[in-house]
Amino acid sequence: MEGRIIFRSTNREAPLVGFKEALLKGQAPDYGLYMPLEIPVLTKDEIDSFREIEYPQIAYTVIGRFLEDEIAPSILKKMTQEAYNFEVPVQKIRKDFYLLWLTKGPTASFKDFAARLMARIMHLFAKQDNKKLTVLVATSGDTGGAIANAFHKLENIKVVVLFPECEVTERQRKQMTTLGDNIFPVAINGKFDDCQAIVKRAFNDKELESLGLTSANSINFGRLLPQIVYYFYAFSRLNAEDVVFCVPSGNFGNLMGGVFAMKMGLPVKRFIVAVNENDEFPRFLETGIYRPVVPSRVCSSNAMNVGHPSNLARLFDLYGGWLTDERDANGKVIKSGLVKIKPDMVSLKRDFCAYSITEKEVDETIIRFYRNYGILIEPHGAVGVSASESFNSDAIIVSLETADPAKFPEKIKALLNINPDVPPSIAGLDDAVENFVRMENNYNEFKRFVTEL
Ligand SMILES: *Cc1c(COP(=O)(O)O)cnc(C)c1O
Repeated sequence: MEGRIIFRSTNREAPLVGFKEALLKGQAPDYGLYMPLEIPVLTKDEIDSFREIEYPQIAYTVIGRFLEDEIAPSILKKMTQEAYNFEVPVQKIRKDFYLLWLTKGPTASFKDFAARLMARIMHLFAKQDNKKLTVLVATSGDTGGAIANAFHKLENIKVVVLFPECEVTERQRKQMTTLGDNIFPVAINGKFDDCQAIVKRAFNDKELESLGLTSANSINFGRLLPQIVYYFYAFSRLNAEDVVFCVPSGNFGNLMGGVFAMKMGLPVKRFIVAVNENDEFPRFLETGIYRPVVPSRVCSSNAMNVGHPSNLARLFDLYGGWLTDERDANGKVIKSGLVKIKPDMVSLKRDFCAYSITEKEVDETIIRFYRNYGILIEPHGAVGVSASESFNSDAIIVSLETADPAKFPEKIKALLNINPDVPPSIAGLDDAVENFVRMENNYNEFKRFVTEL
């Protein structure tokens, strides 16, 4: 096994692996999620020294602690410089309340942070091993665009993005369909769950092994690693002893980035877990009983319409619990969200509080925020701002804004009767030429398609 940091599966039945295998496999063969056996810790002096340096160098230092045996320092340094060539504003809203804008990347959502580094690392590994890879990703909106953009034109890698034709916005679709080259978008006549089912079946299909299939969804540890960095960065731009982070959450990948940052030594006083009407986590914290929301509730913060967050298995694991799904002999899920061991509720309640925010509260928050501060936020960020306001404390709070308001023009127009400014990354999309195939929700048709690429 290569590498210093070893990974095990949350389901405890898969062999240990190094980072490279965890990255290229995505999910462990026992359907668990990969967790590092040990989390590197930074000293207070190291964390203080981040005040003097810029984002790419902080990324290099934090990520380097995990990958120092896997990627040469000079290469990692170059990767972080190229990946993080955009601004990461920490905006002071009022005394003790800040917004962290994770929206300035090329597809205007926080998914760019993970996608851009992951693409570079996968590309490096493919080159080193002289291997061809096919990245398969099912998307309900933002992930597909970020992944497609990040992998565009990388040689020896093809990206196949499946999206539900009727469930993505026009701008989200165009972020996937206007690139061409090695990016192959597929519009499925079905729902997001159908896209995900096709992807999962492809991973388990022996006849597709020669394609070098790899996944880029948020169960991949490679997606979490880059998301640790902006928590360190945000803290370094404040003048504070400690901080509370408020994280708008769906699959809890963003939140897990923060939790790893805390375990690495960042003085986080608490996390506010902000969810929309999919309230399985706040209910769990309150009652100790975990019940997925099935089917998930449809809210305007569509990237957070998740009733059973996949990364919750990692959170349970870190707090001594074991969350899994019950499966039949073929691996098909019979019951999702099976708590085999309950996590330490006392520690969980010390480190986290959680709020479910209604659609009405989201609307009111967007309107109020604009009236009070002249600042436009969008539904995901508004879930965070509203949750931050419910949290009673004199701590410094940093709330994360995860998408640019211009991704939700209809909503903003309806609430405020204004058109959000369109960032350059999105502006070019409106008249770009689209190229994608349409497909019925049919596995064999999809299989033929990827085999012939
Ligand atoms: C994906 C996404 C989220 C949710 O992030 P998780 O890591 O799934 O919790 C929130 N906001 C936006 C805009 C997203 O694209």
